[in-house]
Amino acid sequence: KLVSKKWKAKPTSIDLGDGVFIKDGEMAIITGPCSIESEEQIRNVVAHCVENGIRMMRGGVFKPRTSPYAFRGMGIDGLKLWHSIASEAGIKIVTEVMQTSQIEEMYPYVDIYQVGARNSQNFNLLDELGKVDKAVMIKRGISGTIEELLQSAEYVFSGGNEKLILCERGIRTYEKASRNTLDLNAIPILKAKSHLPVIVDPSHGIGIRSYVPQMALAGVMAGADGVIYESHEIPEKAYSDGQQTLDFAQSARLANWIRESFAMR
Ligand code: PEP
Ligand code: MN
Repeated sequence: KLVSKKWKAKPTSIDLGDGVFIKDGEMAIITGPCSIESEEQIRNVVAHCVENGIRMMRGGVFKPRTSPYAFRGMGIDGLKLWHSIASEAGIKIVTEVMQTSQIEEMYPYVDIYQVGARNSQNFNLLDELGKVDKAVMIKRGISGTIEELLQSAEYVFSGGNEKLILCERGIRTYEKASRNTLDLNAIPILKAKSHLPVIVDPSHGIGIRSYVPQMALAGVMAGADGVIYESHEIPEKAYSDGQQTLDFAQSARLANWIRESFAMR
């Protein structure tokens, strides 16, 4: 496989411009709300990122919700608004693309297209993202194996887009005490099998706010090249995933712990 270390030994480095990288040997921190909700919320989170030296912000404008009655996101207008505020502050945008028809309209406003767990094996979407000249982060499927994640990455890479990031976000197991089971094993295994950077998502991985920091740090020590986690000024009021979302004080503390842990690794 083209994404395998056997094919290419040198780790792939993702250069997002303005000195922002996702690469082996650095620690990427990506934070932000589950959903982009309002201009005020965007401004709050951007300010939080700037204050804490965080250069990448996550947030969904197209939301894959289990229930069709749940908040589905602000859409392309939300993304345009977000981009106008974030780019001024030098913050890069990570957001989910749900279908092929959205790729082009999103293009001017995204830095990393996120492929969600539910779309991890949407091969049409992966094919189309293979033709795009922008970074793509593929999340592991809800019941996806490590091999399946690598095959999904292969779709994009073989299509010509080598700016790829892998994300472990927890898988569905028989365990019901947590939302998902964060598969820490996947991190060293993916790092050994592939030259692509690996990011850990402890928020969706465990789904319980108070345990997000320790799972984030476990992911760092397991060898992740970055952490993506959810934060919000008032998590209890978040439109989605509030139960696993950190407030800004918790997020600021975690960002420092991530950097300290990485420095000790
Ligand atoms: C998200 O990042 O908010 C999200 C929907 O993630 P996942 O696709 O991993 O469930
Ligand atoms: Mn979420």
